[in-house]
Amino acid sequence: MTNVTRDFFIGLSNNHFLNAQAKKWGFVLGADKFVAGTTVQSVVEAVKSLNEKGISCTLDNLGEFVSDKQEATEAKNQIIHILEAIHSQQLDCHLSVKLTQLGLDIDQSYCIENMKEILDTAAAYNIFVNIDMEDYTHYEQTLEVLEVLRERYDNVGTVIQSYLYRAQEDMDKLKDVRIRLVKGAYKEGEDVAYPNKQDIDLNFIRLAKQRLLGNTFTSIATHDHHIIEELKTFVAENAISTDVFEFQMLYGFRNDMQDKLAEEGYNFCTYIPFGDDWFGYFMRRLAERPQNLNLVMKDALYT
Ligand code: FAD
Repeated sequence: MTNVTRDFFIGLSNNHFLNAQAKKWGFVLGADKFVAGTTVQSVVEAVKSLNEKGISCTLDNLGEFVSDKQEATEAKNQIIHILEAIHSQQLDCHLSVKLTQLGLDIDQSYCIENMKEILDTAAAYNIFVNIDMEDYTHYEQTLEVLEVLRERYDNVGTVIQSYLYRAQEDMDKLKDVRIRLVKGAYKEGEDVAYPNKQDIDLNFIRLAKQRLLGNTFTSIATHDHHIIEELKTFVAENAISTDVFEFQMLYGFRNDMQDKLAEEGYNFCTYIPFGDDWFGYFMRRLAERPQNLNLVMKDALYT
């Protein structure tokens, strides 16, 4: 994909007007391929069918750019409702949250209070909560919030993005924290992030290998089969226990490979987004891969 096309979709993903409008449209443009419905019940069914195949899940109640407290409180209540469902239905599932959905842009301490309520419930049910990493303008704040929360909770972690020059430094600081390693989905400047895909991939592999040699659990989140194959070889050559890591992929992507990795005995976790606030998430997926666009266009033409 050219940088122009990528920038176009990333630009759309950040458009607050379109994000708000899309909530009223329902799923259009083939978004239902990548988003597992709008209700808790629909997502519970999706989790159950993956669990039956030995795949665990992480649920993301879609939402970002929240600028009023009522909306952030509703999101927090919905997330607690999901935790209740995970517990009562005994799902093999944890949570992923975005701090901007929980009030980070309104007031950091308010966001922390929302997170505490979520983590209290999650801790009572022994459920892990991962804080997704958003764009670089929220990066420092996200790490600050995590630091405050880690003083009280050990069931919370976050994401390291290999496109950032500082990924190594932050990963070192989080050596005792469960993290998800990703390449990074946002458009960042060359002052903070590698502009070149090869550098991002090399950094990803380097960081993943370091984490695999440690004892803290790591989610290796990529659809990149070259990287996955290299890491599988590394794990075998170094007799690394499969208990210290899992592979993660997004719902609707490379389903055959998801099943195969689980069948091969690796811990595998599918990241399942759901809810009506799908637009920003979906546009970032289109920005990542032209084939996602082809898939969607075929559906638009033939269904
Ligand atoms: P790419 O670099 O996009 O692709 C590499 C190669 O893999 C491609 O050239 C192709 O050969 C192959 N490939 C990739 N996708 C496919 C496909 N669908 N079908 C066939 N071949 C394919 N980003 C954040 O910034 N913050 C987060 O919190 C975050 N959480 C994430 C959670 C999960 C579970 C995942 C999987 C990603 C997350 N991301 C997050 C997004 C991530 O940063 C990347 O933008 C995204 O995963 C694309 O990079 P990639 O490594 O999957 O593969």
